[in-house]
Amino acid sequence: MIAQVIVDVAAYPVDRPFDYAVPEEWQALVEAGCRVKVPFGPRNVLGFITALKEETDVPQGKLKPLSQLLDIEPVLTGEMLQLAQWMTRHTLCFEIDALQVMLPSALRAKYEKTIHLSGPLADLPAELQNLFGNKSSIPYKKVEVAGFLKSLKYSIEQGTVQIKTVVKQQGQVKAVRKLEILDDEVKLQQIAADIPKRAKKQVMVAEWMVDHKGEVFTPEELCQTLNITTAVLNALIEKGAAKYIQEEVYRDPFTKNAVKTKPLALTDEQEVALQQILTAMKNKLPTTFLLHGITGSGKTEVYLQAIQSTLEKGKEAIVLVPEISLTPQMSERFRSRFGELVAVLHSGLSKGEKYDEWRKIQRGEVKVVVGARSAVFAPFTNVGLFILDEEHESTYKQEDSPRYHAREVAIWRSEFHQCPVILGSATPSLESFARAKKHVYTLLTLKKRAMQQSLPTVEIIDMREQLKNGNRSMFSEELAEAIRIRLEKKEQMVLFLNRRGFSSFVLCRDCGTVVQCKNCDISMTYHRSQEKLKCHYCGYEEQVPHECPECQSEHIRFFGTGTQKVESEIYKFFPEARVLRMDVDTTRQKGSHERILDAFGRGEADILLGTQMIAKGLDFPNITLVGVLSADTSLNLPDFRAAERTFQLLTQVSGRAGRHDKPGEVFIQTYTPEHYAIELSKEQDYEPFYMQEMQMRQRFAYPPYYFVVLIQVTHEDVLMAAEYAGKAVDWLRMQLSQNVGIIGPTAASISRVQNRYRYQCLIKYKKEPNLTATLQQLIRMYRTDWVKKGIQLTVDLDPSSI
Ligand code: ADP
Ligand code: ZN
Ligand code: ZN
Repeated sequence: MIAQVIVDVAAYPVDRPFDYAVPEEWQALVEAGCRVKVPFGPRNVLGFITALKEETDVPQGKLKPLSQLLDIEPVLTGEMLQLAQWMTRHTLCFEIDALQVMLPSALRAKYEKTIHLSGPLADLPAELQNLFGNKSSIPYKKVEVAGFLKSLKYSIEQGTVQIKTVVKQQGQVKAVRKLEILDDEVKLQQIAADIPKRAKKQVMVAEWMVDHKGEVFTPEELCQTLNITTAVLNALIEKGAAKYIQEEVYRDPFTKNAVKTKPLALTDEQEVALQQILTAMKNKLPTTFLLHGITGSGKTEVYLQAIQSTLEKGKEAIVLVPEISLTPQMSERFRSRFGELVAVLHSGLSKGEKYDEWRKIQRGEVKVVVGARSAVFAPFTNVGLFILDEEHESTYKQEDSPRYHAREVAIWRSEFHQCPVILGSATPSLESFARAKKHVYTLLTLKKRAMQQSLPTVEIIDMREQLKNGNRSMFSEELAEAIRIRLEKKEQMVLFLNRRGFSSFVLCRDCGTVVQCKNCDISMTYHRSQEKLKCHYCGYEEQVPHECPECQSEHIRFFGTGTQKVESEIYKFFPEARVLRMDVDTTRQKGSHERILDAFGRGEADILLGTQMIAKGLDFPNITLVGVLSADTSLNLPDFRAAERTFQLLTQVSGRAGRHDKPGEVFIQTYTPEHYAIELSKEQDYEPFYMQEMQMRQRFAYPPYYFVVLIQVTHEDVLMAAEYAGKAVDWLRMQLSQNVGIIGPTAASISRVQNRYRYQCLIKYKKEPNLTATLQQLIRMYRTDWVKKGIQLTVDLDPSSI
């Protein structure tokens, strides 16, 4: 018996399977989809069996045997093996990359397998009974060494035993240092009384602690709330008023008990949409629906009821949401409806947790998966429905190999399972809406908000006028007034800082020098809390300089607006405001998104201040004001999707206001109020924007009228990068037809990252049958030859940004 194996050697010029002999003792055990170790050159490498056969072209004597069988139950289904081949062709990746991306990372890490008894011992074959003795579990190794894998496989199929895998996670559990205040009132009072009266701050803190006995805080929280230094805090710790503890940051994704919800009576529009989906489901049609519904129109309720029907038919549903920021509130809504049947997969889970969720899916213990991009590979075998919420989000496209788009994978799988796909959005991607217009997708429209609330009124504010009138602050008079009113009325608001394409940098007012990273050609970002400059591309840090490195002027200072800066401005203008800040800095810890949003939901703050993270998904009844502080920063990105992204962002963030009883108001501050992406976001009406943007795309030959391919070439030496980018372009010009536009090579907009220079070239085409073959040959040239010279070349067939 011959096993056809895809091996994990991504540097090899040719991407194809290799044949290996299956040793006699494993012939009854191996299946396609199992992982193996195989000899490859001087090493043993990981591989996946993609097929089993009897014949091979490899001459006798040259054929090597498999060296280790890692699974006796396949980790990849037949569907996944087919999908991997499709991805290899459609994204031009290595097949091994496609196979690996479908699996939880735990299956690529170190782990230990154990075998657990799940039925009566007496049902096991005698040799296994002996190994178990009176234990309920034994190491897998023991069975393997004893040579009883065949009986084991049989017993797994019978359900008498199960294999469990424990991922070795050295140092994976994260803990933070917290302070626990002594839980003893008398003792605390004693400590307070013993502190000399002149140590006023210490006395104050000790008395405060009496009221907070037994509570736990982070040291930073205490210092901030009480406005004290760590020295004061340490003095109290020394006196025994509080002690340090290690608290595990880990939180079960479902610590809160979800309150059970029932299906709502649908609105007419929702009902029409749902019926079409159910009809496709009943007729087993792989229809792709584009559910275009304004913010608050109740798309989620449509998803929920469609899923319910899927479950009633005994099938499974896969729901994709853009990223972790959405998952807590979103996954909560699914759990509330379907309880224990829901698994969650997102990047906030540890390797072990992800693997556990994946196993539940593989075993069919859950029926619904809610997850980020890679959840599209959830190993269900009887899928009845795929859903992509916020389908326009760029996070659905993976930036590294395999450069797949979750939307395309979902559609491929829906054809395999003969079931519908729902793409939902208030601001669909231009590609999807164009496909719906051409009836490739079926358009479903929700034009009204679910509870008849009107959309918030949007006002666009020209910040140039403000400046002319002498207002130099970051709040226009109109927005400031609106904030004041909300503070008085005790209503909540969201302030949004558009940080895309924006950085807070340090600039010399005398010579104009901007401090840049040593490794990358981009400005360093100023971090106020640590008085440091950091590079967001490579992580390099340095102290803020006191004089200009170029002209030694002392007039070098922070320029631009970060969320921290805005926060302190808010306190300056509105001292009574309570602010919660949500950005990369405050959400690094696991569960912090949820903590911040929960606190806001409980009304512990008036203002939620944040970046893109708060633009989507939030649904709080008390939000009546949304302020966009800087609408246009994302317009200036050198990217053909800049206008689309800006419009989407503004519409999404406006949609956070007035979702329940109280009407909402939105203020958008901008320096370019005449730009159509900003002007049209006032009406929050998608179609006019679509029409206008389509004209631009046509005029400049961009998607969806043309396809684009982005080719990047990098090297440590700028001349090498330029030379090979030039070679690539020359070769493409030679191979491709006249109708194909080839732009470049040009230095990328960020021309150096992590000490490598980047050049890029853009191919634009409408129809080019020769394209795939040409690109494959280019990649082959790179892998056989260029790679040895230190060149890196990537090809992205559907770049989400350029
Ligand atoms: P979207 O996802 O389209 O932005 P949501 O699904 O979040 O909208 O719905 C907005 C609000 O309307 C939610 O609070 C939801 O509970 C409510 N809602 C949705 N459908 C209905 C309905 N048929 N009847 C009453 N309330 C509804
Ligand atoms: Zn200077
Ligand atoms: Zn850098």
